[in-house]
Parts: sequence; C-alpha cells; structure tokens
Amino acid sequence: MSDWKSEQVVIVGGGIGGLAAALALAQNGIPSQVVEQAPEFKEIGAGIQLGPNVFRMFEVLGLTAPIGALAVFPDNLIMMDSVTAEEVTRIPLGDAFRDRFHYPYALIHRADLHKVLLEACRASGPIKLDASQKVVAVDQRNDGVTVRTESGKEYRGAALIGADGLWSTVRQIVVGDGAPKPAGHITYRAVLPTAAMPEQWRWRDMVLWAGEKVHLVHYPLRTGELFNLVAVFHSNRYEEGWDSFGDPAELHERFAKTCEPVRTLLNKIESWRMWVLCDRPPIKDWSRGRVTLLGDAAHPMLQYLAQGAGMSIEDAVCLADRVVASGGDYAAAFRAYQQARYLRTGRVQIMARVYGEFYHASGVAKELRNMMLASRSAEDAMDGMAWLYGEQKDLLRGAARPPPSPRVRGEGRDEGASPRF
Ligand SMILES: Cc1cc2nc3c(=O)[nH]c(=O)nc-3n(C[C@H](O)[C@H](O)[C@H](O)COP(=O)(O)OP(=O)(O)OC[C@H]3O[C@@H](n4cnc5c(N)ncnc54)[C@H](O)[C@@H]3O)c2cc1C
Repeated sequence: MSDWKSEQVVIVGGGIGGLAAALALAQNGIPSQVVEQAPEFKEIGAGIQLGPNVFRMFEVLGLTAPIGALAVFPDNLIMMDSVTAEEVTRIPLGDAFRDRFHYPYALIHRADLHKVLLEACRASGPIKLDASQKVVAVDQRNDGVTVRTESGKEYRGAALIGADGLWSTVRQIVVGDGAPKPAGHITYRAVLPTAAMPEQWRWRDMVLWAGEKVHLVHYPLRTGELFNLVAVFHSNRYEEGWDSFGDPAELHERFAKTCEPVRTLLNKIESWRMWVLCDRPPIKDWSRGRVTLLGDAAHPMLQYLAQGAGMSIEDAVCLADRVVASGGDYAAAFRAYQQARYLRTGRVQIMARVYGEFYHASGVAKELRNMMLASRSAEDAMDGMAWLYGEQKDLLRGAARPPPSPRVRGEGRDEGASPRF
C-alpha cells in the first residue's frame, strides 16, 4: 500500500458532488478521473442556498473567498403567509447567527458554484475531466474497478465514486432499488435580472411565501444582479421526470387562492420548464467493496431544507478524510465514510419531507405553524437549526477540522434591517 496514492479514483458525474469529491481527494494528493455524460462540465438551473455547514466545508476546500465573491449574504430568512400577505417569522442572519454557527448563510447561482469548483479542479494537478462519456457498466475486481461508457471507452481506477445524481446508474449496480419516488410536488424556477423584479420585493432576504399546498420563494443572486424565483405546488399528474415541459395554466390555477403579491411574482415565471420532485427513503449501506455513492446518488432529498448540494459537499470532504485515514484500503474507507454520514443525511432526507408538509399546511395545522413560529425568539430559532448548521464532530477527524472562518467579503450587515437591491 506504500504508493497507493499513485492510482486514480474514478468519479462518475461532474456535478457539484463529483467535482467537490475530486477536489477533496486532490487536496490529499489522490488523483482522480471524472467522467461526465453531458457534452461539457456545466450547470444550468437557478439559485442555491448555502448554510454555514457548507461554508465550513468551503474552508476545508479553500473555496471561501471565490464563493464569497459571487454570493449574496442575505439579511434574514423570512416566512410570509401567502394568503394574508402577513409576515409569519424572520430569522436575522447577522452577527448573532454568525457568532452562533461561525460561518455565514449565502445565496449563489448554481452555475457560479459549479464554476468555482471546476476552476479549482482545473487548477489541481491530479484531476482529469472527460465530458460526453455516459457510464453504462461497472466491473469490480479485487484490485480495482473499471467502468465502461456508452461509446465503449473504459476507465480504470483503484476505486469508484458514483456521484451521478438522482437517476444514478452506479446506484442501480450498488443498491439496485429502482427509480426514485415522485413526491407529488412540482417546481417551476426562474432567474430574473433585478430590474424585472417588482421594486417593492427587491429584498436582500431569502423570502418564502407559505400557502396551502403551494409555496413561492424569492431571493437575490450574483451580488444582487439577479433574482431567483421558485414556485412549488402539489400535483399527482406527473409520474416521473426531472426536467420536463410544464403547464403554466396549472401553475396559476394552483396559486389561485394566494394574495396579490404572490400572483404578481408568479407572473414573472415565464419558463415552461418544470421539475417533478423526487426523493428516496434513507438507506445506511450505499457501498460495495471499492465502489461507493455520494450526493443525490446516495441520499436524494426534497429541496425544502436547501441542503442537497450542501450534503454532497459534506460527503466529499468526509469521504476524502476517511480515504486518507485508511491508507488506501478503499473498502474500509467507504464503510467508515457511510457510517459517518448515513444518520445525518437520513435526517435531512426525512426532515425535508416534514418541512414540505409544514410549508404547505392548511387549516388548524397552518394556524398552529404560524402561532408557533411567531412566538419563537431568534435564539429559539437558532437552537432549532443547530443540528443542521452546527459543527459535525465526526465528519472530519480532529486534526483535519477547520477553524472558524474570518468574515467573507460582502458579509456582515445590520441585523433585522431589510435593505433592497
Ligand atoms: C428546485 C431545487 C432547488 C434546490 N435548492 C437547493 C439549495 O438551495 N441548496 C442545496 O444545497 N441544494 C439544493 N437543491 C439540491 C441540489 O440541486 C442537488 O442535491 C445537487 O445538485 C446534487 O448534486 P450531485 O452532484 O449529487 O448530483 P447532480 O447535480 O445531479 O450531478 C450529477 C452529474 O452526474 C452526471 N451523470 C449522471 N449519470 C451519469 C452517467 N451514467 N455517466 C456519466 N455522468 C453521469 C450528470 O450529468 C450530472 O452532471 C435543489 C434541488 C432542486 C430540484
């Protein structure tokens, strides 16, 4: 095992999780080959929220400054009632939040996050990136793993990480549990230039309008140049599919009972694209010998805690840590990695579903939600978030843990204020 670091790891999927894994391995001198099915390494889509737990990982990966330069640091997380247009609750994200969790809360365009990861991978010596290669088969032997792509190309490595997302091919080889489960929820997303956002709603906050079986989210992106809009509603009309043509008439019908500001904002979503949301129940074993899974391939979740990408980045850092600790015994490393991760990622999968119910509540459940949230202090709210945003003691072994981060550019504003762009 003395020169185990000379053999590459094959990573299937060059999304956020796959690139974060390549980077985390490279930082520890472990080479990798990333194999991506799309014609280029690129993310489309809209905004992503990044909790302090993800910034803790950026600190390990050396990405805090480039992410900070492209992100928006919102002042508050706000919930509005989408029928009455009244504020239900707000959690300030200023000094008290920063002091509690040691890292900030941020909003970033998915393409910007992916670009920062890609540039860091390109600047790291031992990472090879191949696009237009769809992996279709995996062959595991005692001394390594080979994957074959649709075009007949083969890649060999000491181990394999399946970071190939919700519809993972590698998962079907490792776990074999069929297609993910549609949640009965549909999402429409749009990214607008700030000038197209009604002026009164250009808040520097993450705002969620909670309604009956619907909700709408808006927040600024790219240092305030853009606004992200996300509309979600319940519908069992769609069986499966990730990115399909939508039906704007249905979108407007589902939001018919919401207040005028919500309907005005909904009119800004011109896209005919929709996402049929899917997840899976948590599992605890997603590795077979030298093959493991990471990110959505291992633990796909609904987006209601805004943590899917965050969990994939935590996975990447933890996995590299366990590979180093194992001294090249990949099977042992992957067992240790999933052991360290499955309860945390399972909790996020389960709680994301619960939050979906919570946002979409009606009747007494809605009254109870509004009453409980309105009576909560900012301190109570942060106590409730500690499991998610606080330090995960077993994610990294002691010596590898990052210190609290210094302030990031653009961070640190007056608490409770709600300035606009
Ligand atoms: C509406 C919505 C909002 C969200 N908001 C947030 C948020 O605010 N915060 C957050 O943290 N998360 C959020 N998420 C979740 C987040 O987008 C995902 O969890 C994250 O993208 C998962 O990253 P991944 O790398 O595991 O998978 P993916 O991003 O799906 O990447 C998988 C990659 O593998 C490639 N691939 C697939 N199959 C193969 C194959 N056979 N061969 C080669 N390549 C292959 C794909 O082309 C893709 O590039 C949101 C999700 C949705 C739907």
